Amino acid sequence: METRDRTPNEKTGEAPVDFIREIIAEDNRTAKHQGRVATRFPPEPNGYLHIGHAKAICLNFSVAVENRGTCNLRFDDTNPTKEETEYVDAIQEDIRWLGFDWEDRLYYASDYFERLYEYAVQLIQQGDAYVCSLTPDQIREYRGTLTEKGRESPYRTRTVEENLDLFGRMRAGEFEDGAHVLRAKIDMGSPNLNMRDPTIYRIRRAHHHRTGEAWCIYPMYDFTHCLSDSIERITHSLCSLEFEDHRPLYDWFLDRLDVFHPQQIEFARLNLNYTVLSKRKLRQLVTEKHVSGWDDPRMPTLRGLRRRGYTPETIRRFCDRIGVAKRDSVVDIELLEHALREDLNRTSPRAMGVLRPVRLVIENYPEDQVEEMELVNNPEDPAAGTRMVPFSRVLYIERDDFRVDPPKKFFRLAPGREVRLRAAYLVTCTGFTQDEATGEVTEIRCTYDPATRGGSPPDGRRVKGTLHWISARHAVEAEVRLYDRLFAAENPNKGDDFLAHLNPRSLEVLEGCYVEPGLANVSPGDRFQFERLGYFCVDPDVRAGRPVFNRSVTLRDTWAKIEKGKKG
Ligand code: ATP
Ligand code: MG
Repeated sequence: METRDRTPNEKTGEAPVDFIREIIAEDNRTAKHQGRVATRFPPEPNGYLHIGHAKAICLNFSVAVENRGTCNLRFDDTNPTKEETEYVDAIQEDIRWLGFDWEDRLYYASDYFERLYEYAVQLIQQGDAYVCSLTPDQIREYRGTLTEKGRESPYRTRTVEENLDLFGRMRAGEFEDGAHVLRAKIDMGSPNLNMRDPTIYRIRRAHHHRTGEAWCIYPMYDFTHCLSDSIERITHSLCSLEFEDHRPLYDWFLDRLDVFHPQQIEFARLNLNYTVLSKRKLRQLVTEKHVSGWDDPRMPTLRGLRRRGYTPETIRRFCDRIGVAKRDSVVDIELLEHALREDLNRTSPRAMGVLRPVRLVIENYPEDQVEEMELVNNPEDPAAGTRMVPFSRVLYIERDDFRVDPPKKFFRLAPGREVRLRAAYLVTCTGFTQDEATGEVTEIRCTYDPATRGGSPPDGRRVKGTLHWISARHAVEAEVRLYDRLFAAENPNKGDDFLAHLNPRSLEVLEGCYVEPGLANVSPGDRFQFERLGYFCVDPDVRAGRPVFNRSVTLRDTWAKIEKGKKG
C-alpha cells in the first residue's frame, strides 16, 4: 500500500518533485528541447473518465503549467466504435470540471489519418513495411511465444512495388476485411513480442465518428500513438507502465521515419482497493445494470464521484498526495475519502437531518409555541455565521438515539435520562409508546427544563448526550441514499469474475427522512454536513418536490488518526 506524499527537494527545499518532474527539470537545465515542455492527455473515447484518468490528467496538465508549457487534449480515436461522440463530449466536460484547460489545443488522432498513411507509404518505400496476407490465425501462430521465436511470413519478401500497389488497393477498398494487413518489417526473433513485425494497418469497414466512411483501413494504436505525439511535438510523452514494452517499437517508428522524437516516460497507474478501474469492467457494470449509469454515485468515474459530492479540489489534492512513482501499488480508498472529509469539513455548512425518525413529544412545552434556535453554520469557518432553526413541542429525533434498555456506555436518550437537544434545551424522558405487535417504539415523551435554553444548564449539571432534532411541523421530507463500497472484496480484480465481488448492500435508500426547513429549496450539487451523520450532497433526482441527498462519506476518518499518529 502506498501513500507517499510528494516530498520537497531536501537540499533546496524547492517545489515538490517526483521522478518525472526531476527528469523534466534536468531536460530544462540541459536545454534538451530548448526549455520547451509539451505534454498531452490522450484518452480513447470509449468510456467515461475515472479517478485513474484523473491521475494522468493532473500529472500532464500540472507539469505543463509548472513549466510554463502546454498540455494538449488528444482523442486517440483510431478504433471506430459506437457512440464515440457521447464520450468525446463527456471527457471534455469532465476535464474542465477538474479544473484544467487545453485552450485551443484539442486534437484527434483521426485528424492525422492522411499523414499517417503517408508515413506508412514511406516505410514501404524504405523496405520497412510489407503487406502480409496471412490470416489472423496464421499471424498469431507465426508470432511465436515468450519462449519461442516467431517465424517470418512468406509475404515478407514482397517487393516495394508490389507492397505499394497492394497497400493502395487496400485503401481503395478492393479487399475484404481481414484479407491483408500492413506490417512493420522488424525482427521475428526479437524477445520483445511487440517487435515481431507488428501490424500497423488493417482493413476494417466501420463507420468512424469523425471521418465517417472515408477510410476502410485504420492504423493500429501503437503506430498512431507515437506518431501523433511526434506530429504534436510533444516533448515528454507520459504514459502508464504497461507501455514500457512498446517503447522500443515507438522508437523504431520514429527513428525510421526520422521525425521529431518525443521522450516517453512511464509511471505507475493508480489502483484503488475495493474498486475496478478498467473501462471494460465499468462499462459492463453499466450495461448489465448493476449500477444506475456511468454517473452512479458508487462508480469511480469522475461523474460518479461528482454526483457523490466529490469536489474537483478533493480529487486534485488526492492525486497530489499519492504522487507519481515508477512502481505499481494499490492505494487505500480511505485515503480518497479522507481527502474528501478534509475538504468538506472546511467548506460544508452544517444542517440537521433525521434519517430514521421517531416522534418526541415535550409534554410541558406550550402547544402553539415556536422558538427560533440559533445554530452555528460551520465551526471551521466563522465567516459562515449562524442560522435560526424553529423548535416546537413535537420533534423528530433519530430512532437510534433512544433505547428502552440502554447498554453500558449508551449516553443518549433512555427512560429517566436527561440529554441535550442541540442548541435548544435539556429534556428528560418520561415515557414512550410501543407498537404492540412489533415492539417498535412509536413515540417518546419528555419534559424540558425551560432554564436550559441554548442547551446549557445554569447549574452546570453534566449531560453526556447531545442529539440532533427537527421540529415536526417545520420538517421537510427528503429521500436519503446511503452508499457503501461497490465491491466487498479488497481486490475485486482477483479471480475471473469481478461481478462475484459486488457488495449486495452498496446502496440503501431511506424514504421519509426529515431535514430542517432551510433545506426546502436546495439545488443539485449543494453540500451539507448533517450533524453526526456525515456529508451529504443534493442529487439531481428531485422526486415530487422532495429533495434527494446522497451521503458522500461518513464522519469517521481512520486516515486522520493514522496521520495524527505519524505526526505525534
Ligand atoms: P482501459 O485500459 O481501462 O481501457 P486506458 O488506459 O486504455 O484504460 P485511455 O483512455 O487509453 O484508457 O487512457 C488515457 C490515459 O489515461 C492514458 O495515458 C492512460 O495511461 C491513463 N490512465 C488510464 N487509466 C489510468 C490509471 N488507472 N492510472 C493512471 N493513468 C491512467
Ligand atoms: Mg488505452
